[in-house]
Amino acid sequence: MGAMRSRLPLAEQRDEVECRRCGVVCQKVIHPQRCMEQGCPFLYAYEAFGHKYAGCLQGVFGVAIDVEHLTRARKRRNGFGAIRAVREPLPMCPAEIERAYEHRAEPLGCINPEFFELADRPSFRVIENTRPTA
Ligand code: SF4
Ligand code: SF4
Repeated sequence: MGAMRSRLPLAEQRDEVECRRCGVVCQKVIHPQRCMEQGCPFLYAYEAFGHKYAGCLQGVFGVAIDVEHLTRARKRRNGFGAIRAVREPLPMCPAEIERAYEHRAEPLGCINPEFFELADRPSFRVIENTRPTA
């Protein structure tokens, strides 16, 4: 039997950090303040231009954050807030899903519930309405 010449057309596994499959826009976000508070070993810091910046070695968020701003924001009631994830959050990441334009939701609800599955967290629920119809 001859060797297979072409690759099988398998679906490419990609990180899904944003969903726009319906009118709502859902986005995975990270709370960098909590990365710091939980002492994540993948949070690194470097100095440049007289400031100290922090970033994620795993590339879960893609921006460098001014540590002074981050520290100052911890004293505010709402803290530093969330930044968008650019790759799938890891089990220890302080991640959640933010939804925008919720008023555009379809009557049947979300058509991509798997998007809400975050590593090591409870999965989505399927609820069946068993009430008899008139
Ligand atoms: S790996 Fe996760 S918890 Fe650690 S710094 Fe990156 S985003 Fe934060
Ligand atoms: S509600 Fe569901 S289908 Fe719509 S954007 Fe969010 S995850 Fe995607």
